[in-house]
Amino acid sequence: MTTPVAAAFIYSPELAGHVLREDHPLRPHRLRLAYDLLAAYGVFEQPGALLAVPRPATTEELLPVHSAEYIEAVRLLNRGDEHVNAARYNFNALGDNPPYPGMFEAALLSTGASLLAADLVMSGDVRIAFNASGGLHHAMRDRASGFCVFNDPAVAIAHLVARGQRVAYVDVDAHHGDGVQAAFYGSDQVLTISIHESGRYLFPGSGEVRESGESAGRGHSVNLPLLPYTDDDTYMWAFEATVPPLLEAFAPQVLVLQLGVDAHYLDPLAHLQLTTRAYSVILPRLLGLASKVVALGGGGYDIAAVARVWALEYGWMLGIDLPDEIPEAYQDTYGVKALRDPQPPQFDPSVIDRNLTYAEAQVTAIKATVFPFHGL
Ligand SMILES: [Zn+2]
Repeated sequence: MTTPVAAAFIYSPELAGHVLREDHPLRPHRLRLAYDLLAAYGVFEQPGALLAVPRPATTEELLPVHSAEYIEAVRLLNRGDEHVNAARYNFNALGDNPPYPGMFEAALLSTGASLLAADLVMSGDVRIAFNASGGLHHAMRDRASGFCVFNDPAVAIAHLVARGQRVAYVDVDAHHGDGVQAAFYGSDQVLTISIHESGRYLFPGSGEVRESGESAGRGHSVNLPLLPYTDDDTYMWAFEATVPPLLEAFAPQVLVLQLGVDAHYLDPLAHLQLTTRAYSVILPRLLGLASKVVALGGGGYDIAAVARVWALEYGWMLGIDLPDEIPEAYQDTYGVKALRDPQPPQFDPSVIDRNLTYAEAQVTAIKATVFPFHGL
């Protein structure tokens, strides 16, 4: 039996209640599905579990990452102010980033939830804090991007750095963590690592190995792009070859994780092919590489798969391997009887070979260009 590890799950119904637009792929309701699934398993009554209620971030807390002009524009758009030029801040009613009533409050609350996660782990009372509503890694200093209004990972990291912490950020979302990379591109206090589907095939188009930081931050932005249809085995191999050595060398005081689930094989927007088998290896491995962990959510558009993976992950944060059979009353909601994926998708060997060869070339390039900055 594994010793339970204290891990907080940050939740309130307000984090899951907003709708960006009826047909928008980002559905905050998926957080409710994850919470309900965990509650059905009785996870919150387990030793070491803690449910924590978030508070909204303040405007001042956003300022290290976002401009005052942008924050004010979000506040005004939230009220339906038609004098604001929405397009200037990359908002568009029919596009990725629609302004909607309650947008400002929702973005402040999910960002405040990430700040609470940072404060909980800094206090030493909690080893791991999981804000699944966060991880909105595309938002930029002056504009919304990729369904993200405020960049809560960057705000939480800036909060930690301001308190003297060395922070590593590992992003396993299918999309490149471009906004977090941009926020700390010139800093050696923050190591950002993003593993994602190549920008040649997927939004936001960036995330090549050669984007490795500037000035003092050289070698502190790490990108591992992978080809569409990369499977568990190639992903796990490339992860193991790069992430643990870099984290061990950088020795962060706090590790911030972006746990988007759109690299899952059922995801309708991206093309990586991970199953719960890969998540069951990668997440526990990451948790073993730092003493304090802030875990955030991220993308994920097959909402039942997202709920299953986040439920499994919170279990692993507590040192619990949840039973595979989903409690019967909930099986219809999730469309499956089991928490873990069945047999992974099958591919032609030539696809597997092509993707492994590509991954090997990326790993070689990271070892040549980034490893030397860390004495590796
Ligand atoms: Zn994503």
